[in-house]
Amino acid sequence: MASSIFLLALLALSSPFALAFDPSPLQDFCIADEMPRVFVNGFVCKDPKEAKAEDFFFSGLDKAGDTNNKLGSKVTLVDVQKIAGLNTLGVAVARLDIEPYGLNPPHTHPRATEILTIEEGTMYVGFVTSDNKLFSKVLNKGDVFVFPKGLIHFEFNPGTKHAVGRASLSSQNPGLIRVADALLGSKPSISDDILAKALQLDRKTIDWLQSQF
Ligand code: MN
Repeated sequence: MASSIFLLALLALSSPFALAFDPSPLQDFCIADEMPRVFVNGFVCKDPKEAKAEDFFFSGLDKAGDTNNKLGSKVTLVDVQKIAGLNTLGVAVARLDIEPYGLNPPHTHPRATEILTIEEGTMYVGFVTSDNKLFSKVLNKGDVFVFPKGLIHFEFNPGTKHAVGRASLSSQNPGLIRVADALLGSKPSISDDILAKALQLDRKTIDWLQSQF
């Protein structure tokens, strides 16, 4: 009897349903203290007695982001910086606006899986796995696509009208690393020799690429 209970417990522990990315919150909520005096993994909680509805509220995601830039796209992210009450809860949302032929360039969210719903227009989207396999698809209104946590992904508008998407992310602080900006636009910059070798290009081409960022 004891050994079968032990076996069941072992099975429960090894079940995929027992896997989790984030530790569970230990209270109803933990509204981020905007003026922290100590720094922890995340934000410390403000006194729950001072909580108000506004701590869980944001307004304005009905408005298009300003796409007047080189890429013709804009992400409006609503994370723990915008809603302090999201602290410790493991979710965020974003609105993505892309002009025709605009691009949300290859990037990753180191701490979140993303699930994207198309609300208007068309997007060609894709992500690349850790063994360099590309999964891509053209999405139209009502279509949903997933970008697994940490993987490089992009969204391009191949259509003739403004495209809008809504993304949900599995972290209150997903993080954003744009691949080209990280490689070619870091401060201080990564040395030419390193980049020339990594990208198999000559140093003049690297200098030109760096000047674009
Ligand atoms: Mn993304």
